[in-house]
Amino acid sequence: MVRMSLDELYKEVILDHYRTPRNRGRLDPHDVKLERNNPLCGDELELYLKFDGEDLVGVAFEGKGCSISMASASMMTEKVKGLDVKQARAMAESIKRMMAGEEPGDINELGDLVSLKGVVKYPVRIKCALLGWNTLLEGLDEVP
Ligand code: ZN
Repeated sequence: MVRMSLDELYKEVILDHYRTPRNRGRLDPHDVKLERNNPLCGDELELYLKFDGEDLVGVAFEGKGCSISMASASMMTEKVKGLDVKQARAMAESIKRMMAGEEPGDINELGDLVSLKGVVKYPVRIKCALLGWNTLLEGLDEVP
């Protein structure tokens, strides 16, 4: 068996999402569409959300930017689709804590998302990793 360091494993997860983004594209119909960017890096993101009551039944994104911003957005869509607003918000807050170098809470619940933790070492990239999550939090405030 090939032994991989945790850093390498995390890198693989990020590259996989960058190369094969999940839930990429426009979502029609949608309830919320937000466009946000990260001028520090030039990352651009369009986020589409569709709700059924309190449940987030559809999440999709479009955009262009660095591998971390796009991979993080892809992971975010995969992770929060199907959650209710409260759960999705809690997950975004966990990620924000993790990226601030604090305890994220239940690491098992985060799954692959812990791969983003490696980014904490590169402060300039933290905004890249959080672009999708911050946009999601804003979108959740607009639940119809
Ligand atoms: Zn970036």
